[in-house]
Amino acid sequence: MNDSKYVYLDNAATTPMDPRVIEEINKHFKENYGNSMSLHSVGQKAAQILVKSRETIASLINAERDEIFFTSSGTEADNIAIFGVTAKNKNRGNHIITSAIEHHAVGHPSEELEKKGFEVSVLPVDKGGLINISELEDSITKKTILISIMFANNEIGTIQPIKEIGEIAKKHDIIFHTDAVQAFGKIPIDVKKMNIDLLSASAHKLYGPKGVGMLYIKNKGVRKGWGKFIEPIMYGGGHEREMRPSTVNVPGIAGFARAAELAKEEMQSEMERHTKLRDRIIKWVTENIEDSYLNGHPTKRLPNNVNLGFKFIEGESIVLDLDMEGIATSTGSACSSKSLEPSHVLLAIGLKPEEAHGSLRVTLGRFTTEEDVDYLLRKLPPVIDRLRKMSPLKKGVKYMFADSSNEHHH
Ligand SMILES: *Cc1c(COP(=O)(O)O)cnc(C)c1O
Repeated sequence: MNDSKYVYLDNAATTPMDPRVIEEINKHFKENYGNSMSLHSVGQKAAQILVKSRETIASLINAERDEIFFTSSGTEADNIAIFGVTAKNKNRGNHIITSAIEHHAVGHPSEELEKKGFEVSVLPVDKGGLINISELEDSITKKTILISIMFANNEIGTIQPIKEIGEIAKKHDIIFHTDAVQAFGKIPIDVKKMNIDLLSASAHKLYGPKGVGMLYIKNKGVRKGWGKFIEPIMYGGGHEREMRPSTVNVPGIAGFARAAELAKEEMQSEMERHTKLRDRIIKWVTENIEDSYLNGHPTKRLPNNVNLGFKFIEGESIVLDLDMEGIATSTGSACSSKSLEPSHVLLAIGLKPEEAHGSLRVTLGRFTTEEDVDYLLRKLPPVIDRLRKMSPLKKGVKYMFADSSNEHHH
């Protein structure tokens, strides 16, 4: 790693904290150590901070204050939504619908449900990463109790037609959950207009702290309104109205709220700025680097997401070489510790395994500058060139992985 310059372009994996968020958290670490359930004034101060934080976060998605439930992560919010809804509604039916490009925090809980006797319909996506609305409607049965489809994808940035999905869910009286971890604070979300019943978000994807998330649960108009269609997956104290017990991380949540506030203020200008930088990278690379292409949808994608394919080389090598040049990026493939399976998302949009291995994800953030993009575009071509010269996958030899799909290759 080059000490003099480091350009962080992996903001979909996590974001650095905004200094204004750090300032807010530090203040609370010092002053607000109380347990929000305590009756004394330190505890009540903590409880007040939670109320204010809930309000701020709710306003970003047009929710009500008491519809926000704090969790320890986006993953936890997804798990509560999926296991909580299916447990509560299992006598109504055992069928859920999800998509082929969900984050593992939704995909793996769905697989667990399948092991426990649920039926899971996994909707395919098209080349751009979009589900088909009529296919969604066709997959609904009398036993369908939950639709869980992500707002925007973490690898290719595709934004789903959430309002249309919400309408269908409402029409058929099915609970609709969306994993909005990548979309929250980046693009407009309105849970009322979009008929969203449950929504997951995470602070660390939004310049806030790691280990803080939330689940929005639509209130059905009564105290503990959540009890109508979801149940907790953990039991303990009375925090978060018993939906999610455990002493609440007040400083982290105050930081999450500050991050949401900043996101609201800066959303419009950041969307415009990122879209320009994103499209500049896509245009420049696909025009100037031979055998490169864009993965995902050209326009229905997050303003900060670029996912590029490079034939004949591997994404991991590109990432490692760019890192030596002082640039942080990511591959398209989500490697599990045991194997180096190509990304399920890239396979779902129709890439061949060897193509999926040659992808590079570049995700912009609040602190990404025009100069950072210049630097990337200067350093990327020689890296691609060098790797292609060394590559055993010379042009014409395209099927190296065709019959070794389970094996680790380097
Ligand atoms: C990061 C991410 C998650 C997981 O959030 P954590 O807070 O890291 O647990 C879930 N879904 C999507 C789409 C993500 O990008």
